[in-house]
Amino acid sequence: MSHENAASLREKNAPLDNLEDWEEFLTARYPVPDAPADAAKDKDAYRNYNTPARDTVREFYRLNHTYQTLEFVLDKKREFLAFDKRRMTPWEALDYLNTLIDDSDPDTTLAQIEHLFQTAEAIRTDGHPDWFVLAGLVHDLGKVLCLFGEPQWAVVGDTFPVGCAPSEKIVYPEFFALNLDTQNPDYQTSCGIYSEHCGLDAVHLSWGHDEYLYHILKEHLPEPALYMIRYHSFYAAHREGEYRHLMNAHDEAMFAHVRAFNPYDLYSKCPTPPVLAEIKPYYEDLLAKYLPSEMAF
Ligand code: FE
Ligand code: FE
Repeated sequence: MSHENAASLREKNAPLDNLEDWEEFLTARYPVPDAPADAAKDKDAYRNYNTPARDTVREFYRLNHTYQTLEFVLDKKREFLAFDKRRMTPWEALDYLNTLIDDSDPDTTLAQIEHLFQTAEAIRTDGHPDWFVLAGLVHDLGKVLCLFGEPQWAVVGDTFPVGCAPSEKIVYPEFFALNLDTQNPDYQTSCGIYSEHCGLDAVHLSWGHDEYLYHILKEHLPEPALYMIRYHSFYAAHREGEYRHLMNAHDEAMFAHVRAFNPYDLYSKCPTPPVLAEIKPYYEDLLAKYLPSEMAF
């Protein structure tokens, strides 16, 4: 798909005006369990679409599953992994991400940055290593893609491998019938264009904020933190246990970190939100310890 085509599709198909719809969907799909450790056990506690966000989320996934083809993903990698859009310090990137919501809904002005700081603070409170805290702080920074004009279906949402048959356990699997890749038999076997246990690094996931941020940070963070960032939306694998035939032993080991991260992403809304002025010095030091003073987006 050419970029012009993608741009015109985007204009025609912009169902979610702001990321609040997405957050609402996540909260409904993965309700807060009694204890985060019980989350994976309670199979009835999620995939609950009986929520006001239902129709926009359904429409979101219709677009996501229709247009996220292998060709689209390769096209977006060429476009965004050139990192020629903007240079920012880590703090500027956090501030820049916040402008995303300033433009749409004043009630959700703080949602993005609050979610990042609450995730990081919950990880810190539990005494995890500082790189784990940092992964919490930055894990959604890739959503700046929305500010570069990308539609929501190419930024957020559960991710899944392209170039092979989709799992039935992906949310709204029926919409894959609309995806042009279903017309290519080479992409419709369980391994598709990949070989068994080739490892996820060789697998193209649907394009979005996870993969984008992974490439921005891959030289700077320890590998467990990079797995948390790169695969945090790959629910079919880390939640449902699908796609193990594409994973290698190293992926299996590293996914323990992805699963450890997930409850903090979903359930870290604090009753008393952290006061930024109090925690800022800690996070300034943390960012300076791991990240360069300026990063290319
Ligand atoms: Fe995310
Ligand atoms: Fe998140």
